[in-house]
Amino acid sequence: MRNLAPLNTNPIDEFDSIRKSKQDPANSVLLALRPTILSRYGEYKTEFDKNTLQNIKNKTFTPQASEFLKKCYSDSTNSLNSVIARIKKNQPDHLRSICQFCGIDTDNTTDHYLPQSAFPEFSVNHLNLFPCCAVCNPIKNDYWISKDPNYRGIINLYTDILPTQQFLYVDIRYFRNNVIIKFRIDNPNGINPDLFQVIENHFTRIKLINKYNDKTGNIYQRVINSYKGKIAYIGKPDLIRTDLLKEVQNHFLSFGRNHYEGVLMEALANNNHFLNLF
Ligand SMILES: [Zn+2]
Repeated sequence: MRNLAPLNTNPIDEFDSIRKSKQDPANSVLLALRPTILSRYGEYKTEFDKNTLQNIKNKTFTPQASEFLKKCYSDSTNSLNSVIARIKKNQPDHLRSICQFCGIDTDNTTDHYLPQSAFPEFSVNHLNLFPCCAVCNPIKNDYWISKDPNYRGIINLYTDILPTQQFLYVDIRYFRNNVIIKFRIDNPNGINPDLFQVIENHFTRIKLINKYNDKTGNIYQRVINSYKGKIAYIGKPDLIRTDLLKEVQNHFLSFGRNHYEGVLMEALANNNHFLNLF
């Protein structure tokens, strides 16, 4: 899971470009709404810059206005496709195709952080759009604020600066010939409690612990296969540990300190039972 870089273009220019590609009556209705949209984009940017998007209250639009605003997104236009393509292109190469809400699947959909159902005016504002996988997107759905309205329920990958401290952990237990591997999150390293609350809400909503637990068998087998039967590693637990930790450091640099795969590899590198299997 890594932060994403927002575009630095002005979202109202993109709204105008999408509006101009519409026929009447959509074009006229959207043009009449433009001052309201401009003002709402300003409110969004103010709260975005302070990382307090939970302060934005929704505004009521007529059913027709709401429909045309949502259609700015749902009806494909070259201008909209260009915005979405530029959001993706703005990210580092190695993150470009991976959903950063989970860190697992391909980001072949776009999530509206503030949902279109309550905030149709932000349907094409790039600060509200995140590349997202087809698994996370429907699970997140309209959810973004937690039951406690002071806390957002989903990590905002533009504005919530992800901690460099560890918060994702994995417990490894060997029982006879079986290994039991379970992820969990915890905050022993003093991550800001408000930020950790958002992380916890995000993990609960997206069901990330279950998703990561489902991946453990594959990762464990891949790591085993890297060392098993290789003469250089037979009876050399210290060498396995050193080599595995090198791979872990590179993994964290690319995918973040709390990427599930790196966290599991690091835990294996520090597990004596594992190191003595070879
Ligand atoms: Zn995802």
